[in-house]
Amino acid sequence: MREALASAFAWDTIDTSEFVLADGGRTEKALHRLADGAAIESVLMHYPAGSDRRERNTLCISSQAGCAVACPFCATGELGFGRDLQAAEILDQVRSAARRLATRGRRLTNIVFMGMGEPLLNLDRVLETVAALNDPGRFGLGARHITVSTSGVVPGIRRLTALGPQFTLAVSLHAARDPLRDVLVPLNRRWPIAEVVAAAKDHATATGRRISYEVTMIGGVNDTNADSEAMAELLRGTLAHVNLIPMNPVAHTPWTASPMPVIERFAERLRREGLPVTIRRNRGQEVGAACGQLAADRAGAPPVAAVARRRARLEASSAAALRGERSAEGLPAGVDA
Ligand code: SF4
Repeated sequence: MREALASAFAWDTIDTSEFVLADGGRTEKALHRLADGAAIESVLMHYPAGSDRRERNTLCISSQAGCAVACPFCATGELGFGRDLQAAEILDQVRSAARRLATRGRRLTNIVFMGMGEPLLNLDRVLETVAALNDPGRFGLGARHITVSTSGVVPGIRRLTALGPQFTLAVSLHAARDPLRDVLVPLNRRWPIAEVVAAAKDHATATGRRISYEVTMIGGVNDTNADSEAMAELLRGTLAHVNLIPMNPVAHTPWTASPMPVIERFAERLRREGLPVTIRRNRGQEVGAACGQLAADRAGAPPVAAVARRRARLEASSAAALRGERSAEGLPAGVDA
């Protein structure tokens, strides 16, 4: 019977996993190879208990292989879109991490959908996953310990809100001015900032949970006084928390992280509006496991000439955006809007 069962069922959708450690063993990046050869990544982060907080073990999971949104500061976006993951393929990243933690006498405390892919463009499967994670008979994780992030898929945010549970919603904002956000988050050409923030505000009102706005800080691009002014104006009086993330190095962009004093100044401007702001410490940068670096075992570096062309195009489009000019480019291929 065991043999018959083994040949009739797949017990795990992950064929093989390889692991690399960073941050003195507190960050573990897993490269998972799926049955059809697709490669995805998950990142497990351990935060030891402190005087004011309990130990946390947070897993950052992927919802798609690659990503169609094509944010230019993100290595996953540069890969392009592969395919949506099945719910089982998303859950098996969690099972894999839970098993590894159990051998260390630890348990998973938080899940964030901030790995590869735009979760709300694979919403049915993500909702199936979230229901399983939240089910006391399965993973038993409280809704407040699950964060679903989006680059701004407005119909998806509205569907999440209609469902009711108090999942944390994270919005990858990156800029508060449409011309610049058109460049940094190409999905903005379909759902501009005002629509995204209106949907997020409605979510906060319906759930009583504050929205986490993520901002990758890119030196000289989105960290100017005009940007902090626009963001303060946009989020003033809303139930929000702003996370400033120094940009992590990726090969195909001309950009680097904003200097820390600039980030501090940006944070201070928002705090003056009463907005809670944190500056996120980068985890896993040395092994390509930090935000925007997940490239799932890319086969070699892209050709030098292609990288140079892409960098020149980004420099031109971000300079135009800083002059206030809207991008004439359409949506990236593969975004079904
Ligand atoms: S930042 Fe997120 S939405 Fe943008 S390309 Fe990367 S994975 Fe996709």
